[in-house]
Formats: sequence, C-alpha cells, structure tokens
Amino acid sequence: MTDTMKAIAAQESGGPDVLQLTDAPTPEPGPDQVLVRTAATGVNFIETYQREGIYPVEHPFTPGSEGAGVVTAVGENVTSVSVGQRVATSEATRSYAEYFVVDAAKAMPVPDEMSDHDAAALPLQGLTAHYLVRSTFELKPEHTAVITAASGGVGGLAIQLMKRIGATVIALTSTAEKAETARQLGADHVLGYENFAEQVRELTDGRGADVIYDSVGKTTFDESLKATRVRGTVVLFGGSSGQVPPFDIQRLNGSGALFLTRPSLVHYLRDAEERAWRWNELTDAVVAGDLKVRVGGTYPLADTAQAHTDLESRKTQGKLLLLP
Ligand code: NDP
Repeated sequence: MTDTMKAIAAQESGGPDVLQLTDAPTPEPGPDQVLVRTAATGVNFIETYQREGIYPVEHPFTPGSEGAGVVTAVGENVTSVSVGQRVATSEATRSYAEYFVVDAAKAMPVPDEMSDHDAAALPLQGLTAHYLVRSTFELKPEHTAVITAASGGVGGLAIQLMKRIGATVIALTSTAEKAETARQLGADHVLGYENFAEQVRELTDGRGADVIYDSVGKTTFDESLKATRVRGTVVLFGGSSGQVPPFDIQRLNGSGALFLTRPSLVHYLRDAEERAWRWNELTDAVVAGDLKVRVGGTYPLADTAQAHTDLESRKTQGKLLLLP
C-alpha cells in the first residue's frame, strides 16, 4: 500500500465532467474503522444528485457510499473484521477511489461463493429492494404491487424479491427491451408509463394496486396516486425524472385515504441486527441462485463521468460498477 491513491474528486457542482481522476492521500482507518482496497465500486443515482448539488456536499467532493474489496488495515478497537477479509458496504464515504474506509460495523462479510462484482453491485440496491418489500410495505402473496424503472438496479432486484414472496407484480419500463428484461425477471404484467393508472386498474378489476414503489418521481407520482387502491400505500423512494414538487396533503384524502411514505435506506439499517438480517437474506438468495445480480456496465475509475452520463441517459439496465 502506498501513501497516495487514485480517487475521483469534483471541485464544484455540475454535469458529469466535474468528476475528475486525481491523486489523493490513502485514507487511514479511525479506531472503529477498516480500510478496504476497492475491488469494485457501485454507482448509484444519489451520487448524481450530489454531483449536481441537489443534495448539498462540500467540495472537493469524492462520491461513493458503496463498494466491495479486501480489508487491508483495521483500527485499534476493531475485533469483528480482520485483515484479508472480503467485505462489502453501502455505508462508506468516498468509495470512488482505490481505497476507502468504513465503520467496521458497516462492513458486511462477503460469502466465498460471491464474485467481487456481485458483492459491489448488491449492497445499496439490494438492501433497498429488501427494505421496500419486506418492511416499508410488507408484501404478502395476496398483494398486487407496481414497481417503476423495473429493469433498473433496484427495480430488477425488487421484482425478484416480490416474486419470491408470491405477490403479483406489475412492472413499469420505458422500452420494449427493458420490458423483456422485466418479464424475464418474473414480472406478471409489464406496462409503459403513459396512463399507467388506468391500466393498473384494469389489471386489478378496478380496485387499484395495494402498493406502488415509485422511484421515478416527478413524471409518475400523480399517476401513482391514481393507480393505488383505497387505503393503499404509495412509496416514493426516488426522483430519477426529477423531484416531486411540494405536495398538498389533502390530496391523500381525495385519492382514497392513501398512505404516502418517502423512505431512505439509512432508516432501515438501524442496527447490526437489522443490517445482518437484510444482508444475509440477500446473499443467501444469491448463493442459492435464487437472486440474480445484474451488472449493466463496468468502467475504469478514469471513466466515472461516462458512467454518470450513461446512468442519467436512461439507457442502462442493472448495476454500473467502477473498477479502480
Ligand atoms: P436505475 O437502474 O433504476 O436507473 C434509473 C432508471 O430510472 C432508468 O433506467 C429509467 O428506467 C428510470 N427513469 C425514469 N425517468 C428517468 C429520467 N428522466 N432520467 C433517467 N432515468 C429515468 O437506478 P437505481 O436502481 O440505482 O435507482 C433507482 C431509483 O431508486 C433512483 O431514483 C434512486 O435515487 C432511488 N433509490 C432510493 C433509495 C432509497 O433508499 N430511497 C436507495 C437507492 C436508490 P425506465 O427507462 O424503465 O423508466
């Protein structure tokens, strides 16, 4: 290990080109942290919001909360993780780099059977899909659920988890190719976005879906309210098309006494037990061959701007990874 490493840094907010490859000091783990040599870093939508300044960050800014790799050093208080162990996390900072540090409690063990790519691709989108369908609205076999961006990272994993539960899945995607992916992942019905509420009502005998998991936001939210059954739940968990503008709560009454929530992963990883429950269910399913992790593209760290461009272009399916 050397004192310096390659890392991405943005000096200001802006488009993908602000993401520049630089030399940076290799970080040192604090007393309760571990240092990880990055095998692969996951690219997530949140980093595009941070890059643009929609979510404020300090500059120079090195993005990245997700990654997998090998532990190369541990802080003095760390007993749960050892040097040489393979770990993955969705809760690091500055993981667009050759090395990153993370709290030992948030470094999750990677089974031997899992590849580095799957280990880096699974944490953030997998844990999100898991909390959405197991906790935010606890799906049962008798439920009908709608999921937006169904061939995407979270969407594709969520379809598979929902089908394991036995629920009926209505997938929304924007192209025929993406629709085919959603079908292959197990969706019962696949629709486009236009007037989807009417079609969801037709598919549910006029009743509406029990739950809508909406990550597209601005362009889908109104339809989501219309597509949900009386006393159903709308889970707004992202804004890929833009953030939903301020909302008059009275509309929930007019829409059928709906429940509306805007969750974040951090609120569903409250302690070690909860993190381990979600991660172990996911990795057990991957190792058993019941959950497919799809990597939609790999990029050298120097091409991080291209990875952001591709993610925002709406053309990708599955997870994008940076390989330092
Ligand atoms: P995806 O792989 O799903 O990529 C985004 C997808 O959004 C696109 O492929 C596209 O699918 C859809 N989309 C719709 N409109 C647009 C648009 N105008 N521009 C770009 N994409 C659009 O990404 P992720 O799986 O990483 O994330 C999905 C969403 O989930 C994001 O909004 C993200 O912020 C959110 N998220 C939320 C978390 C939470 O805890 N709240 C945690 C993790 C992710 P299509 O063409 O089929 O519509």
